Amino acid sequence: MNKTAKQKIICIGAGASGLFFCANSDTDIYDVLLIDSNAKVGRKIYISGKGRCNITNNSEPKEFINNIVRNPKFLYSAINRFSPADTIDFFNENGCPLKTERGNRVFPVSDKSSDIIDCLLRKCRQNNVKIAFEETVKEVKKTDDGFTIICNNHEYTADKLVIATGGKSYSSTGSTGDGYRFAREFDHKIIELKSALCPIRVKEKISRDMYDLTLRNVSLKAENDTFHKTIFGDLEFLPNSITGPIALSLSSLINRIDDVRLSLDLKPALDEETLDKRLLREIEKQPQKDVAYLLTTLLPKAFINFFMENTDTDTKCLLNSLTREKRQKLVKDLKDFKLTYMGLEDIDKGIVTSGGVDVNEIDPKSMESKLCKNLYFIGEVLDVDGFTGGFNLQCALSTAYSCAKAISIS
Ligand SMILES: Cc1cc2nc3c(=O)[nH]c(=O)nc-3n(C[C@H](O)[C@H](O)[C@H](O)COP(=O)(O)OP(=O)(O)OC[C@H]3O[C@@H](n4cnc5c(N)ncnc54)[C@H](O)[C@@H]3O)c2cc1C
Repeated sequence: MNKTAKQKIICIGAGASGLFFCANSDTDIYDVLLIDSNAKVGRKIYISGKGRCNITNNSEPKEFINNIVRNPKFLYSAINRFSPADTIDFFNENGCPLKTERGNRVFPVSDKSSDIIDCLLRKCRQNNVKIAFEETVKEVKKTDDGFTIICNNHEYTADKLVIATGGKSYSSTGSTGDGYRFAREFDHKIIELKSALCPIRVKEKISRDMYDLTLRNVSLKAENDTFHKTIFGDLEFLPNSITGPIALSLSSLINRIDDVRLSLDLKPALDEETLDKRLLREIEKQPQKDVAYLLTTLLPKAFINFFMENTDTDTKCLLNSLTREKRQKLVKDLKDFKLTYMGLEDIDKGIVTSGGVDVNEIDPKSMESKLCKNLYFIGEVLDVDGFTGGFNLQCALSTAYSCAKAISIS
């Protein structure tokens, strides 16, 4: 019997989105080739979640969407089609059991990101997907009946082309931003790229002994004349920047605004009056001690010098001679500790890239380009990004799944 030749799909990029697309593509109808410049798949998954891979966030689609910073509405269809609950089922049923931790963050039970990669790769192999390693795509061209994909070693043709090349951050993992160039070839608009989920640079000198410090349960506020946002949680320090969950999240919200003012509330659970009463109690207990001592009852040791240097606190002043004004200044400094914003770290240091392929030119149900038939974009190459907590990997999986299912019925 004469068998008609299968149509060919090429997916560029073997990260989370490319692997998941291939694992779910219909290989009864299509020959699927996955191309990646690396010798191994999933390099970025490997370093994700500090090597543990926070694969998703165990939340309902509505709550999930609230944690998407750019273009949440675009994701609505994809997240409902393949939700965090579906991700959990997928890995549990395919040999990689998952667990949910604080903040609904989901990790493999083994705490090994390599188990997530192995699971995805196994599913691709079972699905008869071919993989071309160490093939860097240099150029993509539209032909009369499909696409030509020109790589460093070979040239390929395809009926359908899926671009899953990721963003531009942590470029050593292979995500060098080539997908934006390919998109431009097809006249797609690229929304300006910005750092996201990245450290925030500050002018104040951060000393070595603060690198291991985590300020727990503080509030970080960023504002300018038209914007203000406060985020509560943990803050950490790097040589010239602040980081940790609240700084990273805030970075994604301020990456397109100027003249940002930063302020830290070191005692967000206490209003000024209650904090003042607390100071008075401490002063009553040890009136002969000085302000430096008082600060040890309020702040972690490694933070005290930094606080004193940047607030001009008279630390030698004895508590029994501390005036009301000086006490109130201390309260103010604790509630509104200013940091001087010096911009965000470079895109390469961001956990994700903000900006990318304009989603107005993409069909949210299939991820197909509205400008070029049979061309698709999935994962971080799109102008979609979320907060930390498993939201970005889930975006990669949901867009990949929607694309695979749409192609299988097209
Ligand atoms: C340090 C770090 C920690 C993170 N932790 C988490 C986390 O715990 N949870 C979470 O949800 N998100 C996390 N993220 C974000 C998440 O990893 C990414 O959003 C997600 O991996 C993006 O998947 P992707 O498939 O779109 O792109 P990528 O995973 O970046 O994959 C793109 C692939 O395309 C290939 N490629 C690119 N250009 C070419 C070319 N020209 N030719 C051939 N191949 C090419 C690359 O080699 C790469 O393999 C983290 C990111 C970083 C950097």
